[in-house]
Amino acid sequence: MADTPEPASFGKPPGGARESMLRLIADAVPALIAYFEVEGQRCQFANRRYAEYNGWTPETIIGKTVREAIGEAAWVLIQPYIEEVLRGRTAKYVREQTLPNGELRVIEVNLLPHFEEGGPQIGTFVLINDITHHSRAEREIRDSEERMRKLADATDEGIVFHKDTLITDVNGALQRLSGYSLAEMVGRKTLEFVPDAWKQTVIDYIQAGREDPYEAAIIHKDGREIPVEMVGKTMPVNGETYRLAVVRDITQRKEAQSRIEFMAHHDALTQLPNREYMRERLEKILALARRRKSATAILFIDLDNFKTVNDSLGHHAGDQLLREIAKRISSTVRDADIVSRLGGDEFLVVLSDVASRTDAAIVAAKLLEVVNMSVQIEGHKLSVSPSIGISVYPGDGETADELIRHADAAMYHAKDSGRSNYQFFVPAMSARAFEALNKESQLREAIAAGQFVLHYQPQLRLSDGALVGVEALVRWQHPQRGLVGPDEFIAFAEARGLIAAIGRWVLQEACRQMKAWHEEGGPQVPVAVNLSAVEFKQGDLVHEIAGVLAASGLAAQHLEIELTESVLMDHAGHTLQTLQALKALGVRLSVDDFGTGYSSLAYLKRYPIDKLKIDRSFVRDIPGGSDDVAIATAIIQMARSLQLHTVAEGVETQEQLDTLRKLGCDHFQGYLVSRPVDAAGARAWLKL
Ligand code: C2E
Ligand code: CA
Ligand code: CA
Repeated sequence: MADTPEPASFGKPPGGARESMLRLIADAVPALIAYFEVEGQRCQFANRRYAEYNGWTPETIIGKTVREAIGEAAWVLIQPYIEEVLRGRTAKYVREQTLPNGELRVIEVNLLPHFEEGGPQIGTFVLINDITHHSRAEREIRDSEERMRKLADATDEGIVFHKDTLITDVNGALQRLSGYSLAEMVGRKTLEFVPDAWKQTVIDYIQAGREDPYEAAIIHKDGREIPVEMVGKTMPVNGETYRLAVVRDITQRKEAQSRIEFMAHHDALTQLPNREYMRERLEKILALARRRKSATAILFIDLDNFKTVNDSLGHHAGDQLLREIAKRISSTVRDADIVSRLGGDEFLVVLSDVASRTDAAIVAAKLLEVVNMSVQIEGHKLSVSPSIGISVYPGDGETADELIRHADAAMYHAKDSGRSNYQFFVPAMSARAFEALNKESQLREAIAAGQFVLHYQPQLRLSDGALVGVEALVRWQHPQRGLVGPDEFIAFAEARGLIAAIGRWVLQEACRQMKAWHEEGGPQVPVAVNLSAVEFKQGDLVHEIAGVLAASGLAAQHLEIELTESVLMDHAGHTLQTLQALKALGVRLSVDDFGTGYSSLAYLKRYPIDKLKIDRSFVRDIPGGSDDVAIATAIIQMARSLQLHTVAEGVETQEQLDTLRKLGCDHFQGYLVSRPVDAAGARAWLKL
């Protein structure tokens, strides 16, 4: 427009079509337009906007100098630009201007020099655009971007801008989180920073334009995966669609989550999977075994004398013991196997893939060995022995519950058959487990109701047949079954923690009865009481015996304690101290069933023992079995050299008696003279 008008004609009053057309155009455009001649700097033309902007009309502004036309204040400001344009150069600048009504405007001023064709400069064309609106919009964008960046940098949440997954910007937090710098991220695809496993999730969210938070992960520059929560937001910017994602590090939340999950699934004491979690995993293992037609073995482990440890040394020691046992079991099986603590002193091992029952038996034998080894806790050498029941899929059950139940039944069978052994499930055991349960409650009732009686068997001197002692043997007076022998309930009572109550009653009753007989004028002989190994390990045994003696009034030398070899062989406890303390009380000690355990001269020498009782299995075949005669001979010889008395058990024939006499045995007991009989029956040979 600046090139087209004829500046010379502008000064003339509008006339003619061409003139009026130019004015029409000039007034129609939104810009402010004016033309000043070089000479005198006077206005030759101005459109309505320009004139009115400066407080004139298109007519009154004509002939005014620049200074007059725009006012003193503006003149000062634009003078440098006018000088510029007078030198023949285009000048362009933006300035703010306060209108007479106080409104602030931003204008963009263009000053264009006008030259005569091929000649000197003759005028200046002024073109002014009001860019207030435009500039405000721009400022707003700038401000909001700055606010955004400040916010983005201040927050701990990573923020990434991307267009079609191409990263355009990231904030400081995301750089810290990812380990990458801004330059390393911009221009790359967002998905390059997402682990494969999460790529599809991220793609789905972006494509669907979803704006709800979701979990994913990013890859740190060092390669590790960081769990994150992402929230995407689609933002139209300048007609293009950008997406912004807020990335929050949820490592801690995840850790807390997995800690909680772990706690829900594991036993707090041993960190082993708990029953529920084990069951869950066992179900899966069984499903797999079903498909692969492979076998799975379930080993149910119960610690035999854990209760004793817990009761005598306290829970703290008990806990330590359980942790140690858990460790030993875990390190014995493979990683793929499950070791679980069911609670109390019960553990369960799932052997996920076994070739045969023999495999399971081998593992069970190994477990027996490692659990049996003594444990050093708080200065005590402790030992527990496991009873293990085994069930195998397929064959012993279909479901996890059934297999566990059957392994449990087999475990009880192991307990009842003398502890520290393992047993495979056989169908008859289910019934047995039920029986056992029944038996336990009956036995508890028997203890409460005092359904026990003692029978007595005399012990005689071989040389002259004189009465030298009486052995007390317990029986259960069962309300339905009649008299039940100790072989049917002693081991069971030991397994269920009921032996102490029974043993205490036996001791009291034996002492009371013997004292009564003494007072009636019976022979001043001792009564022998059998003590189970479990009872022997009780911390307060010496105390208890002393108390019973005092209460009954029986002299200590009239009480004989029969111990099994296993008690002496257990070097873990305080065997020696206990025996010495008992000896100090004046109580006599004998070793029962001698020859069936792992006899060792060494321990016999160490302990203050009075008698050895030759097990009846060696007596049984005398005089026929030469081996037995040899063993009996050896025991008698050895006992003599250690100055111990010998008692032969289970003497049923005169021949046995004669042979034993020749071998130099001191005492005997057996059916030959008398079966164990009740107190009334005993009066006969006590001559009362
Ligand atoms: P034990 O201490 O070896 O007791 C001797 C066992 O041999 C008794 O069996 C007795 O009846 C049996 N017996 C005695 N003479 C003969 C014989 O000539 N021939 C044969 N074949 N057997 C004979 P019982 O009374 O059934 O006791 C079995 C076991 O139960 C005892 O073996 C003992 O270990 C245990 N026991 C008995 N009473 C108690 C008790 O009060 N406490 C504890 N802890 N165990 C007890
Ligand atoms: Ca005995
Ligand atoms: Ca015996």
